[in-house]
Amino acid sequence: MRQDFQSILNTIYQELTSLDDKGTVASYIPELAKVDKHHFGIHLRTLDGHSYGVGDFDTRFSIQSISKVLALSQAASLVGNDIFKRVDVEPSGNPFNHLALLEIENGIPRNPLINSGAIVIADILISYLKNPKQDFLNYVRDLVGDDSIDFNLEVAHSEKITGFKNYAAANLLKSFNNLENSVDEVLYFYFHQCSIEMSCRQLTKAFYLFANKGSSLLHKAQLTESMIKRINAIMLTCGFYDEAGEFAFEVGLPGKSGVGGGIVALLPDKFVITTWSPGLNKKGNSQLGMMALEQFTSATKLSIF
Ligand code: GLN
Repeated sequence: MRQDFQSILNTIYQELTSLDDKGTVASYIPELAKVDKHHFGIHLRTLDGHSYGVGDFDTRFSIQSISKVLALSQAASLVGNDIFKRVDVEPSGNPFNHLALLEIENGIPRNPLINSGAIVIADILISYLKNPKQDFLNYVRDLVGDDSIDFNLEVAHSEKITGFKNYAAANLLKSFNNLENSVDEVLYFYFHQCSIEMSCRQLTKAFYLFANKGSSLLHKAQLTESMIKRINAIMLTCGFYDEAGEFAFEVGLPGKSGVGGGIVALLPDKFVITTWSPGLNKKGNSQLGMMALEQFTSATKLSIF
């Protein structure tokens, strides 16, 4: 029997928007602190061709670390499994900007979804792409089929002037010979990558290939099934930093969060869902987004477990 997804989303929306505690908007990137924490949107796309939305699902926001999965997928399509010679695939159990992990592993970041790992992936893309920043943007636009997707230059600049920990990570990686390009070049790319703005509806489209065995909405076989399995495994174990265990426990889906308040999660062969609420919990993940996804998988009984 078909589930009434729209009424499930409506119920979740009603319940969560009435909560007083909506978390705290990220302020360490000053430009992000300007966002109103009362925004809340959810968008769901099923692989049988239906889509459902509630709230601000067409409003664009800073995708931040969600971009790390898209950069990883472009790097994987260009370089294949060799990327895992330069970045490991173990969960960190630490915040996204933690630095000690680099040293423990001799300059090999623990996974591609913490900042140090994403900086290595950015370096790989810069080495492989002709016009790295534009080619990455085009890759994302192409996944969605929407050329209006763009960087937010104020956010990229804001992140550059406060990005001390990312400079520290990049310098450490460079000292271990795990960056081919200059620290400035790699971080320039990384800050722009994180500044891309998309809506829940656009993100749901962008992540379609991870639920659809590697074929995006518009193009077949962007990635092999084996690589899709690997990237989904990395999202499940590493997508939420030191809250990855909690997300698997409460929600039970591969996914990725960003400090802009977005979360994308998916169930292979079934659906992709994106939530956006800018208020974060203490671990830096969207407070209402985590709750919404927990309620969604509980109500629908759809999770990988
Ligand atoms: N651009 C952010 C940073 O590097 C990404 C962090 C995040 O979304 N968790 O700090």
